Amino acid sequence: MDIAAQKQAEGPPGGVRARARALGRRLAEVLFPSRCAHCETPLHGAPNAWFCGPCWAAVGLSAGALCDRCGIPIPASHAVAGWCCADCIKRPPAFAAARVLGPYDGPLGAALRLLKYHGRTGLAPALAARLDPSALPAPFLGVDLVAPVPLHPRRLRERGFNQAGRLARAVAARLGVAVADDLLARHGAATSQVGLSRARRLENVRGVFRVPRPQRVAGRTVLLVDDVMTTGATAHACAAALVRAGARRVVVWAVARQGLS
Ligand SMILES: [Zn+2]
Ligand SMILES: [Zn+2]
Repeated sequence: MDIAAQKQAEGPPGGVRARARALGRRLAEVLFPSRCAHCETPLHGAPNAWFCGPCWAAVGLSAGALCDRCGIPIPASHAVAGWCCADCIKRPPAFAAARVLGPYDGPLGAALRLLKYHGRTGLAPALAARLDPSALPAPFLGVDLVAPVPLHPRRLRERGFNQAGRLARAVAARLGVAVADDLLARHGAATSQVGLSRARRLENVRGVFRVPRPQRVAGRTVLLVDDVMTTGATAHACAAALVRAGARRVVVWAVARQGLS
């Protein structure tokens, strides 16, 4: 059921249907206790409504050697300050640095699928709370403004919300800075990036993003937020548009990184 149909089925807040659904949920909770969305352990005394303690504790703890720029994991032997991966040297991204909580699998992958495809938007602040600002590199200092990677308008209509927008709001609240949902606009075909190489992805998103009001970003450091980062092509295209519009610096935070598929 899509979000619009779901909203219709739910009826107005506080309506008879909404109350019946709430009662049904409470009854179901008693008869069939909720289970962790990853390991299916019953959720007694869990840190949130979706995951058990151990699964949630595993979210956002990925550490190790990273490319200084795009944040992909690199061999420990390369772990020297300022070391960049071959892709970043060959084609430096328009963003100054990008970081993620962890790989797009396990409890983190389950959390993102619940947020994105099942409308569990309460997970956005829960995931943002796993972001540790003190673990971010220097380019993240002095962020003025947080902005989400925009969804194509057609996808936004289909889904009913932009998951990156929900995450951006939660991250902005966590960092105590302003959020601008409409800083970037997306146009052009809503073609999928799935299955494309990094070069094809870069080509696919070239010119797709623009900044309708450049005066909002002039001289400012912008934190771009997305749910999943794959090759960084989308983040690069957004950052390029922001830098062209006059942004001083763009840094990127995504919840998870996905390998090419
Ligand atoms: Zn679990
Ligand atoms: Zn890199």
